[in-house]
Amino acid sequence: MNRERLYKINAIVLKRADFGEADRLVTVYSLEEGKLRLLAKGVRKPTSRKAGHLELFTHVKLLVAKGKELDIITQAEALEYFPNLREDLLRTGYAHYIAELTDGFMAEQDKNPQVYSLVLESFRRLDKGQEAWPIMRFFELHLLTLAGYRPELFVCVKCREPLKASVNYFSVADGGALCPRCGEGKDGATALSQGALKIMRFFLTRDYEYCQHLRIPHNLGVEVEAILRRYILYRLERPLKSTRFLDKLESGGIYG
Ligand SMILES: [Zn+2]
Repeated sequence: MNRERLYKINAIVLKRADFGEADRLVTVYSLEEGKLRLLAKGVRKPTSRKAGHLELFTHVKLLVAKGKELDIITQAEALEYFPNLREDLLRTGYAHYIAELTDGFMAEQDKNPQVYSLVLESFRRLDKGQEAWPIMRFFELHLLTLAGYRPELFVCVKCREPLKASVNYFSVADGGALCPRCGEGKDGATALSQGALKIMRFFLTRDYEYCQHLRIPHNLGVEVEAILRRYILYRLERPLKSTRFLDKLESGGIYG
């Protein structure tokens, strides 16, 4: 095979779908090329040596050959397996959500090494069994930022006045917070407590190591999660598959 037609990438497996008789379409997010849809030939055969390296959520090194329609995975070597992301049901749900948002917000070949790091770090934290809530909110806010949808949480999106320490409003359609004057009675704007605003600001501006140790009161955790969920759904303009599964699992209450 011609050497120029081969390239090496470090990637994270986001999605897999059966293709033809024995093949799979594998969606990955790679460090070098961003999101790619690749063909893995023969991986559904029991004898395939590549199959185990291409499990969902695996961090993998790939050798890829340029194809006419789809590029083809010729070699796969797993770097990190993240077993807990497949064995622990709740963590599997979170990993699906991370993969679905990354796939949903990133266009093909729109490469961004920070997105790659964010997904990888989030998977590592989940796999280690760290508390899921801060991992997930940190991921959501930073993915939104990297995708160009950072919610405005410091000034009113309408009048641009700095937000004061009071109950403000949040409007998904306007992309952020509104002061009481602009937000009250506005269609689609919901109340945003001072505590929830503060938590989201911390998650946007501080390191994960700092955010991880914040003590989040239950009611504020619920509020922040609901706001981000609505904002993400609005931006994606379609329903999420992974949240149906997660909501069912979480109905037992993940806040303890
Ligand atoms: Zn305003």
